[in-house]
Amino acid sequence: MSLDFLPWVPPSIAIRNSSDRFPVRRIYTIGRNYADHAAETGLGQKAGSVPGVSLKPADSLINDGDTLVYPPATQQLDPEVEMVIAIDRAGENISESSALEHVFGYAVGFDMIRRDIMRECIANEHSWDLCKSFAGASPVGSITPVSEIGHPHRGAITLSVNGDTRQVGDISDLIWGAAEILSRLSHYSALHPGDIVFTGTPKGPRPVEKGDTLAGAIEGVGDLTIGIA
Ligand code: MN
Repeated sequence: MSLDFLPWVPPSIAIRNSSDRFPVRRIYTIGRNYADHAAETGLGQKAGSVPGVSLKPADSLINDGDTLVYPPATQQLDPEVEMVIAIDRAGENISESSALEHVFGYAVGFDMIRRDIMRECIANEHSWDLCKSFAGASPVGSITPVSEIGHPHRGAITLSVNGDTRQVGDISDLIWGAAEILSRLSHYSALHPGDIVFTGTPKGPRPVEKGDTLAGAIEGVGDLTIGIA
């Protein structure tokens, strides 16, 4: 007997100055990777606390210019503006000194979160996958290749909603930089081409509503605009 549906086609991201697209495999997100945001969450304040890692399904990806349909089962949808690392070379147990050789490029992403569900999961000591796995939870803008911009270490990262600035930070304030993130992740699972990593958000995420327009930018990296409907 044969299946009556087509195989799943991975979602993909535009590449700046190219007609090729970057197919997405795993989506990692690093949490509490800016000290000012870690402090405002009230989480991870114990001595020796380090940034955390979670995963989002690849089918939650949407692109620049897309509209995110406000997800069900939430009263608090928060966008977190983040730098995204795109990986094009496999590896495991990668050293920090060679980790950047695995990077294809960088982009702006919004790590969209059903914050009320996240809080409920934390309160009940459950995994918080449901807060980050809804349709449209992972908007990512065009990838700018390393061949064009190298590896950005500083630059303003901003989010505005309907033209009003919500979040302002600088990627130089990342607690784990790109090399450290990729090295750490690769000691738990092999990295593969198509994996992308959201690197964390600076302080100030606040809820958005239907009808809002979200615009993110990272100086020297790129930008991303989506609507909420
Ligand atoms: Mn995040």
